[in-house]
Amino acid sequence: MSETEPTAVTGLEENLWPATARLDAGGVLSIGGMRVDALAAEFGTPAFVLDEADFRARAAAWRRAFAECDVYYAGKAFLCRTFARWVDEEGLRLDVCTGGELAVARSVGFPAERLLFHGNNKSVGELQAAVQYGVGRIAVDSFVEIERLAAVAAAAGVRQRVLVRVTPGVEAHTHSYVSTGQEDQKFGFSLAGGAAAQAVAAVLAEDSLELVGLHAHIGSQIFDTAGFGLAAHRMVGLLARIRDDHGVELPELDLGGGLGIAYTSEDAPLGVDELAERLIALVGKECAAAGLPVPRLGVEPGRALVGSTTVTLYAVGTVKELPGLRTFVSVDGGMSDNIRTSLYDARYTARLVSRAGASTAHVVTLVGRHCESGDVVAHDVSLPDDVRPGDLVAVPASGAYHRSMASNYNHVARPPVIAVRDGSARVIVRRETEDDLLRLDADPADLGGAADPARPARPGVRAGSAEPANPQGSTGAQVAR
Ligand SMILES: *Cc1c(COP(=O)(O)O)cnc(C)c1O
Repeated sequence: MSETEPTAVTGLEENLWPATARLDAGGVLSIGGMRVDALAAEFGTPAFVLDEADFRARAAAWRRAFAECDVYYAGKAFLCRTFARWVDEEGLRLDVCTGGELAVARSVGFPAERLLFHGNNKSVGELQAAVQYGVGRIAVDSFVEIERLAAVAAAAGVRQRVLVRVTPGVEAHTHSYVSTGQEDQKFGFSLAGGAAAQAVAAVLAEDSLELVGLHAHIGSQIFDTAGFGLAAHRMVGLLARIRDDHGVELPELDLGGGLGIAYTSEDAPLGVDELAERLIALVGKECAAAGLPVPRLGVEPGRALVGSTTVTLYAVGTVKELPGLRTFVSVDGGMSDNIRTSLYDARYTARLVSRAGASTAHVVTLVGRHCESGDVVAHDVSLPDDVRPGDLVAVPASGAYHRSMASNYNHVARPPVIAVRDGSARVIVRRETEDDLLRLDADPADLGGAADPARPARPGVRAGSAEPANPQGSTGAQVAR
C-alpha cells in the first residue's frame, strides 16, 4: 500500500547499522569514514560494504566474554581469504564445513590447531585434506564417517581429535525454541534414540581417533538462552553417562552458534556478555549437579560476528507505482545477493543513503532485477516519497549468509565485498565480470562438430580437456567403503 506516513527519515536505527555508520546533514551515509556515494562511484553497485572495525570489535567482545572458552567463527556465514586472516589475527578459532572453506583457511595459513571441521557428509577427500592439514578437531556426524575418518587417520599415521555431533532434541527458531522428542534432522547422532552414546563408544574403540568432547548446534537467529539451557542440560547428562559407562571425563563441550542479530528494529538480540554469563553459569550448574568437572566450553557464532558489520549498497533503477496496490522500487541486485528474503521470508529494512529525500515516506516493496516474482529484497520498507532512479539504497545486517549464499542466477555477476576502515576502502572480494561468468563454459567451437546433426555432441563429453579431480565430489565417498 502506498501509505503516506509522517517523517520516518531520521537517524540510524540502533543495533541495525555497523558501528562506524554515520549520516551527515545531507543524508549521506558513511561507514568506516567512507561516504557511500564515493564508494558507489569507485566500486559500482551492488556492493557489500563491510565495517572492519565493527567486526574486530565484535571479535574482541566475544573473546572477552568467553575468555576461558573456545570461540569458533562459523565460516559459512561469510568467508574469504582476508576475512580468515582477520579471524586469525583476532585470536578466534574457525569452523569450516566443506573442503572449499578449508581451502580458504589453508590458503592463508590459518593455524590448523584452531580449526574445527563439521558437516553431515564430508567426503573421504575432504577428511584426508583435513587430517593432512592437521585440523584440530573434526566433528563426526555419522557411523560411516567414524569408520572413514578412523581409516584416513590411521593411513596418515595420526591420532585425530574428534567431537561427536549430538542432536539434543532442542530446535531453536527465531524468538522461540521447541523441545522435540524425535530428532528428525540430518545432522548429528540422536541423543534420545541412543545413537549418540553408540557413536561415543564407536569413537573410543578406534585407536586412530581421540574423543575430546561433544558438539551440538541447535539452530539460528536465537534470541534467548532457554534453548541453550535445555541443550546444555541434556549434553551434560550425556557427559555423565559417558563417565559412568566408559570411565572417561570428556574435556570439551561445544554448544554451537545461533545467537540472533537485529534485522529490523523489532528484533532485540541478546548481548554477548549476557549470553556468556548465562551459558557459563548454566553449564557450571549442570556439571556440579552431575559431579563432573566443568568442560572447556566452545561456541560457534557466525551471524552474530559478521551479520551486522555489512550493508548492501544498491542503486535504484525503476520505481513502479501500482495505484491502490503498492509501489515497487527495483534495485540492481536481488535474490542473487540476498536469498534470505525469498528462502526464509526474512525481514529487512532499507534506507535511502545518498541524500536526505522528502520528509514524507511511503511503504514500498524493494525488489531485485531477477526473473522471479519472488525476487524481493525487503518487504514493506519505508522510503522517502521522492525516491527515484539513481538513488542509493542500503540494506543493513547483510553480512551473514548473503555473499556466502550468493548465486549467479540470470548470469548476474556477484557483488564485491569492500572493507572500509579509517577513511580507506579495500576490495577483499572483487566483483565478478562477464569473463568470470563465461570461464567455466566450454567454447562450442572447441567441441568439434557433431557427425549427425540430429544428434548434437553433448557438452562435456567431447571436451578436449579432462575434468580435474574433485576432492569434494561424492565419488570419493563411494571409493572408500
Ligand atoms: C551454521 C552453524 C553455526 C553458525 O550459526 P549462526 O546462526 O550463524 O551463529 C555454528 N555451528 C554450526 C555447526 C553451524 O552449522
